[in-house]
Amino acid sequence: MDRVDCVVVGAGVVGLAVARALALTGREVLVLEAEAAFGTATSARNSEVIHAGIYYPQGSLKGRLCVAGRRLLYDFCESHGVAHRRCGKLIVATEDSQLDGLDRLQAHALSNGVEDLQRLDAAALRALEPQLHAVAGLLSPSTGIIDSHALMLALLGDAERQGAVLALNAPVTAINVGSAGLQVEVGGADPLQLLARTVVNCAGHGAPVLAAHTAGLAPAARPRQFFAKGSYFSLAGRTPFRHLVYPLPEPGGLGVHLTLDMAGQARFGPDVQWVDGLDYRIEPERADGFYAAIRRYWPGLPDDSLHPAYTGIRPKISGPGEAAADFRIDGPAQHGIAGLVNLFGIESPGLTACLAIAEHVRGLVEVDPLAT
Ligand SMILES: Cc1cc2nc3c(=O)[nH]c(=O)nc-3n(C[C@H](O)[C@H](O)[C@H](O)COP(=O)(O)OP(=O)(O)OC[C@H]3O[C@@H](n4cnc5c(N)ncnc54)[C@H](O)[C@@H]3O)c2cc1C
Repeated sequence: MDRVDCVVVGAGVVGLAVARALALTGREVLVLEAEAAFGTATSARNSEVIHAGIYYPQGSLKGRLCVAGRRLLYDFCESHGVAHRRCGKLIVATEDSQLDGLDRLQAHALSNGVEDLQRLDAAALRALEPQLHAVAGLLSPSTGIIDSHALMLALLGDAERQGAVLALNAPVTAINVGSAGLQVEVGGADPLQLLARTVVNCAGHGAPVLAAHTAGLAPAARPRQFFAKGSYFSLAGRTPFRHLVYPLPEPGGLGVHLTLDMAGQARFGPDVQWVDGLDYRIEPERADGFYAAIRRYWPGLPDDSLHPAYTGIRPKISGPGEAAADFRIDGPAQHGIAGLVNLFGIESPGLTACLAIAEHVRGLVEVDPLAT
């Protein structure tokens, strides 16, 4: 059986960031990706927003890794020429009854280390965005947008320069724990077995599935998975907005918000629709619900201006009606298997946080108390 030092399962933005971090410490790294290309799953189906870290529970991994990851990501984009723009974001209250919610959000953001939110009144908002209807808002200057594919290319480039290897069409079907290390079963057209010292399961939607096929992992270490689809609709024609615009958050998501891509195209979404599995088809009729939600903050949205764009599916580990789960990053201290790290529920802000997640994983691997 071939031996390899580290196996990273999944070549989304998180797997690539982890591979880079491990390769930069001099470890031998093999990335195994089930699909024929890297970054085709959730990392290609999101809002491409660099989040400030406003919303997450204080002290949570989501909150800490978002704030740290955002700083690392801006630096990485600068040093690696990854297209991005610090365009800023407005969170708006459209009625007086929401003003308390805005206050609470600002205080909460501060407790997460987001110190640059600015409170704006209706006139200041109108000066920034003349078409916006709002009674007050918060400006987040450190929110931005990024070309996520360029980011993944740059992460892969760094990892490969350090000797990491990406294998495509290489689905990992099982992990067995032996005395000599972790035995990784790879399926596909050319099945093989590998023996690894370290395995990091960054398989996104596939992570809980792989955990269920990891021998010796206790039931408590295999979370249930849920799927929350988000649909996006793009705006026909030019957008009048220069900032991202968000309403106050709603259960399961951030509300139907306006984001911009690097080409200046505006899109709205994602909404929240609990589904049974991975079906990325978009239902054009869902736009009906978007018009009313958007017109609360942009009354001038023209009729018939929204066109189906794409969907993404949040890899959730908490279900409808349950409290939102934190990122779950289980190392040997959590599950008792030396050399194994499982990442579950890496939904938003996973793109923003990818470099900080990678640092966190590197730390778990370096101090693995069970490794011999
Ligand atoms: C609708 C939506 C909007 C979002 N918006 C934002 C945002 O604006 N900002 C932000 O910071 N975050 C956002 N996110 C979150 C962000 O997109 C994710 O956190 C991030 O892309 C997760 O990356 P990943 O590498 O963990 O997963 P993925 O990109 O899903 O990658 C997992 C990879 O593993 C592979 N794989 C699966 N099973 C196996 C297996 N058994 N063997 C080998 N390979 C396997 C898959 O093919 C895939 O390539 C959003 C998410 C969604 C769904």
